[in-house]
Amino acid sequence: MNNFAKIDTVQPFLATDYDNWQAELADGVSDMGELYQMLALDLSKQAYTPKHFALRVPKSFVAKMKKGDGNDPLLLQVLPDAKEAMVVAGYTSDPLQENEQKPLKGLLHKYKNRVLITTTGACAVHCRYCFRQHFDYQANMPNTQEIAQIAQYVANVPEVDEVIFSGGDPLNLNHRRLSAWFDAINAVQNVKTIRIHTRMPVVLPSRIDEKLLELLKNSPKHIVMVLHINHANEIDETLQQKCQLLKQAGVTLLNQTVLLKGVNDDVDVLCQLSHTLFGAGILPYYLHILDKVQGAAHFDVPIERAVMIYWQMLERLSGYLVPKLVQELPHRPYKTPVNLYAK
Ligand SMILES: *Cc1c(COP(=O)(O)O)cnc(C)c1O
Repeated sequence: MNNFAKIDTVQPFLATDYDNWQAELADGVSDMGELYQMLALDLSKQAYTPKHFALRVPKSFVAKMKKGDGNDPLLLQVLPDAKEAMVVAGYTSDPLQENEQKPLKGLLHKYKNRVLITTTGACAVHCRYCFRQHFDYQANMPNTQEIAQIAQYVANVPEVDEVIFSGGDPLNLNHRRLSAWFDAINAVQNVKTIRIHTRMPVVLPSRIDEKLLELLKNSPKHIVMVLHINHANEIDETLQQKCQLLKQAGVTLLNQTVLLKGVNDDVDVLCQLSHTLFGAGILPYYLHILDKVQGAAHFDVPIERAVMIYWQMLERLSGYLVPKLVQELPHRPYKTPVNLYAK
């Protein structure tokens, strides 16, 4: 019998309990005991405290987990596990060798027509499989002057027509900072599209507020938002409403998923995800093979198994609901489609 088994109410987590999204962000869970208490789990079974990359998850995301289930697919994405400390051959701290492709601080220019900016190191949620968990964000976060330098760089390379705000999570930036990024990039003629890669609508939906919607609506560029959802249980009514507002602001909504052992390496789970995404107005974009980052080996799905699952998805889903199965290989000028015919 554990101490928490009798507790069956989750502590306040509704957005209406907070003055604004930043207050809600600050109230995220970073203590294992608190997480276990909220979920009525037995803490004695999980004693691992990571030295780097601490537990971090907003309460609204915890509220989507099933109580009493230590294998909940949302919980597994955020729960530190002793297996992270294992050293596994082939798993490194910079699996994409990104450290070599930075023309300016915070700017990755790997693919011809698009650049990616690490606008911030912070995220509302720490996903245990994160491929940038060892990234030196302090050394890579542009300041105000550097924002101008990046905009200048983009203006000087006419073939760049898309700028990707990434991170960390760009929606972790406050409104003033995010506006500064938009102002700088909105002014670059050759840029047609601004893309935001974010998990915020999923883990902290209150972030999609009026000011953000105005910022997106008022940009002269096409706006694409790539969400990061790994399981249908992450999608609830609140998220659907926020997606509706984003669409009304003219935003194109896409989703990328990482194939994760124990979380979504199952054809039923992935087909349900595609259907639920579509119901929320989001189209599946990528299904990623896990990047081989130190600490995440226990999430890896062998490529043969990934391909087998993917063939089943092709059989069951309408074409537009099938994400592209890709992997990132260092030094390739694109994300590489997985060979479905390899033996
Ligand atoms: C993933 C990625 C992009 C975007 O690639 P798409 O295939 O257009 O989604 C751009 N730059 C970098 C460095 C990336 O890792």
